[in-house]
Amino acid sequence: MLGQMMTAPLLISSLIDHAATYHGGTPIVSVNTTGGVENTTWGQVATNARRLGSALTRLGLEPQARCATIAWNNRRHLEIYFGTSGAGFVCHTINPRLFPEQLVYIINHAEDRVLFIDETFVPLVASLADQLTELKHIVLMGPRNEAAAEKLPGLKFYDELIAEGDPAFEWPTFDENTASSLCYTSGTTGNPKGVLYSHRSTVLHSFAGNTADSLAITARDVVLPVVPMFHVNAWGVPYCAAMVGAQMVMPGPNLDGESLVKLIDDYGVTIALGVPTIWLGLLGHAKAAGSKLASLERTVVGGSACPPSMITQFREEYGVDTIHAWGMSEMSPLGSVNMPLAKHRALPVEEQHKVRESQGRPPFGVELKIVDDEGNDLPWDGKTQGDLLVRGHWVLDAYFRMDDQDILQDGWFATGDVATLDPDGFMTIRDRSKDIIKSGGEWISSVELENIAIAHPALQDAAVVGVAHPKWDERPILVAVPHEGQSPSAEELLAFFDGKIASWQVPDKVVFKDVLPRNATGKVLKRNLRDEFGDVLTG
Ligand code: AMP
Repeated sequence: MLGQMMTAPLLISSLIDHAATYHGGTPIVSVNTTGGVENTTWGQVATNARRLGSALTRLGLEPQARCATIAWNNRRHLEIYFGTSGAGFVCHTINPRLFPEQLVYIINHAEDRVLFIDETFVPLVASLADQLTELKHIVLMGPRNEAAAEKLPGLKFYDELIAEGDPAFEWPTFDENTASSLCYTSGTTGNPKGVLYSHRSTVLHSFAGNTADSLAITARDVVLPVVPMFHVNAWGVPYCAAMVGAQMVMPGPNLDGESLVKLIDDYGVTIALGVPTIWLGLLGHAKAAGSKLASLERTVVGGSACPPSMITQFREEYGVDTIHAWGMSEMSPLGSVNMPLAKHRALPVEEQHKVRESQGRPPFGVELKIVDDEGNDLPWDGKTQGDLLVRGHWVLDAYFRMDDQDILQDGWFATGDVATLDPDGFMTIRDRSKDIIKSGGEWISSVELENIAIAHPALQDAAVVGVAHPKWDERPILVAVPHEGQSPSAEELLAFFDGKIASWQVPDKVVFKDVLPRNATGKVLKRNLRDEFGDVLTG
């Protein structure tokens, strides 16, 4: 016997409809690509999304045609998120920091039909245009612009396109498992791989993201997604915010500390989300500018391990709660969020703080486990580390358009991360499996060493990599990036590890750099560091 309840497909259009109906007047602030700030509302975003959906339909695109974006976080990009998916097309966000040959590969592999670009990217796209064989329309996200049109013949203009669209366009209804959006991972080897999200996975991910032990975004929040909309759908924040009608501050192209502090203070931001390097810049500037970040209640930090010193600084100097989260493109991205349990209230304050350092626990809807090389389950004792596997409603089961894939292990997806799980399910990332350091048969976590190093007051940034050693196979070295005007000695930096970690884990050497090499999503390119410094202990 079936239950006798209504069913309706879980569609992204229902998110923007909800925002328009119940939060239509809620402000959305958007920093323009070419300077200045625009004020709009969820109601206006929803109307423009409908106009766009209508205009794209009139262009005669086939169902699920990929509509790509190369753009910053701004209100037009938000409208494109909802307008494309809502009308049954696939919103394909592209990371502009990829190499040009990767951009060409991705756009052709996805068979993108439409490409929306911010003005910043006109020269980039003009240099690639003749290789983009599947593309039918390039749309500049703004008003008519003759200078841009000269560089890109046939260029369309977003504001003109939506002006022709119908504001009363009715969203089509279709199977909730229909593809909604597409994101390519920026792996360090081989071609990027596409992750094709569905309407259902996106809506379920939004429910999970908004639960109280998760990101807990509410109608009372002013949300600043610093994480780019081209990085795993800005961690799903635009959908979560629409679901509850939160105010949004879209930061545009400038993500430096000064610009972000100003946005937080000017617009009363309550929650901001981004990768650790962004917050290093922000904290540095807030101190210099004397800002107390008065409105900010919480930051969500993920993408790379959040150094404990950052959590402490946010808490002690600004009264901001840092929520450490972990995820990946392949899981939409939410995999775990660190929120304390009731029993932690009884702990001494220092221990409560310690609990907040791990990458946290999965929200309902995803599961985590750790396994050994043979795929056997490993104990949840907080010590045993193994390959981290995930499954759940917003985890992929195949990459987009790749043949011969059998990417799951008994229904679980192998993340490529090495982690521990404690008896309560708190997960701690030890490393990417390719970055863990194997020293004389023992494993050393580069993340743990980096977390210590970055707390040194003279360091702005730090990475630890394993390099060849004649006796121990591999030993850790510290790649240190001092703050401007500071020149700490190697001895001083190594002494900083004393008492914080077993002595055999202390790096063998310190090398200095002005800046760390990072990939398109801000992760340190450890392979480059190993290439550069691979022989410092043997040569
Ligand atoms: P991406 O698909 O580009 O988002 O990258 C996903 C990878 O980023 C994960 O598999 C982890 O290696 C890393 N990552 C994400 N969040 C964290 C975190 N909080 N701590 C450590 N590593 C993280």
